[in-house]
Amino acid sequence: MVKNINNSQYELVIVGAGVVGMGAAIAAQKKGVKKILIVERHQACTGASIRNFGFITITGLRQKIMQERSLRSREIWLDIIKKAKITINHRGLYLIAQHKESIPVLEEYLKIDPRSTVRLLSKKEMESHHPLFKKNKNFGGLHSTDEVRIEPRLAVPAVAKYLESTGIDFLWKEEVLDFTDKQIVTQKRKIQFKKLIMAPGNHLKGLGRNVFEKRKIQSSKLHMLRVMPEKKFKLPGGIMADLTLMRYPGYENLPSKKKLDKVIQKTSRAELDNGIHVIVVQGKDGSLIIGDSHQYTHDTHYPFEKEKIDTLILNKFEQILPIGRYNVVERWIGEYPSGKNDYLDHWLDKNICIANVTTGIGMSTGFAFAEDVINKLY
Ligand SMILES: Cc1cc2nc3c(=O)[nH]c(=O)nc-3n(C[C@H](O)[C@H](O)[C@H](O)COP(=O)(O)OP(=O)(O)OC[C@H]3O[C@@H](n4cnc5c(N)ncnc54)[C@H](O)[C@@H]3O)c2cc1C
Repeated sequence: MVKNINNSQYELVIVGAGVVGMGAAIAAQKKGVKKILIVERHQACTGASIRNFGFITITGLRQKIMQERSLRSREIWLDIIKKAKITINHRGLYLIAQHKESIPVLEEYLKIDPRSTVRLLSKKEMESHHPLFKKNKNFGGLHSTDEVRIEPRLAVPAVAKYLESTGIDFLWKEEVLDFTDKQIVTQKRKIQFKKLIMAPGNHLKGLGRNVFEKRKIQSSKLHMLRVMPEKKFKLPGGIMADLTLMRYPGYENLPSKKKLDKVIQKTSRAELDNGIHVIVVQGKDGSLIIGDSHQYTHDTHYPFEKEKIDTLILNKFEQILPIGRYNVVERWIGEYPSGKNDYLDHWLDKNICIANVTTGIGMSTGFAFAEDVINKLY
């Protein structure tokens, strides 16, 4: 809680308590910036940062800057995970090839990913990693040991609490309605700043609306589910499969992908039409978080959710991980901004920046992106 805020002059004001806003605060603090305030319109971050898989992904990201940002973000996450006492649910990633045409794509991918921590597993090796991989159809797949999974709805508030304990001020439940070159205006007060970062996430019709419209930033809407398996088991890492090869940018220009595209267009037309690829991660209680789909608009999404999309996601999930009976215990919608470029840092002047991750990869790369913004600011 901030005291005497009306009389305060902040060195740095940040709008938005998501991964990007808090990443900027972490980076600024490391540079010795003293008076930092994060203003959040809700009682906590309720945006994409708590709605995602909590999966810090390295594999399949675009070379070079995106993957470098994911590796740097991972370092920052691991540090904050320790300091804020956040639980890691599991580590690593299995990308399961359910089509034989995926294997050449993965072989080509390994040639461009410089890490030694990612390798191709044969079907036999895959089967030796988990009993479930004996039950599904697979031709082997990728295994990376770098990925980390945390529960975002717990982790993001834990980061905020930790940052508060280090002297960063948070102003909750106040919306920044306007700003000049030296002050922000909320529904309750005006606050002076020297430098300002706006990290509003998918709040595209508020602050920075003109910039988002000019840059043709869209909102991407995703379906997410949490299921509880009847028979408990431990997932050996995050799970992806062939449909991810159709969506993640690291695979997009690989020569063998053209052949795979044709096969997947035949086997998974409805999934492609709804932007579905399947990621599965696990929570502490054994539940599985499963997603996702993608629908895009320049306007505001209508609130009606097609059951068909959830059915398609769950059907694919059952093919990838045949776990037997389960109950759907939660469903939710997440939204993130999507643009032509992966990141948007729009400088209104040398002290004011709008910072947004404009592809669905901010949990994995947002901390490092925010650090780069701070390095430009100071
Ligand atoms: C369903 C889903 C799945 C995803 N999966 C992955 C994944 O697998 N891997 C990955 O790396 N990324 C993933 N992402 C993307 C990732 O979650 C986002 O890129 C990241 O969380 C963006 O963080 P942010 O801080 O920019 O935005 P947010 O988390 O949306 O935070 C912005 C904050 O700003 C606040 N705010 C906005 N306007 C104002 C204002 N005027 N005044 C005060 N406060 C304001 C909002 O209330 C919000 O709390 C996924 C996203 C979703 C939705």
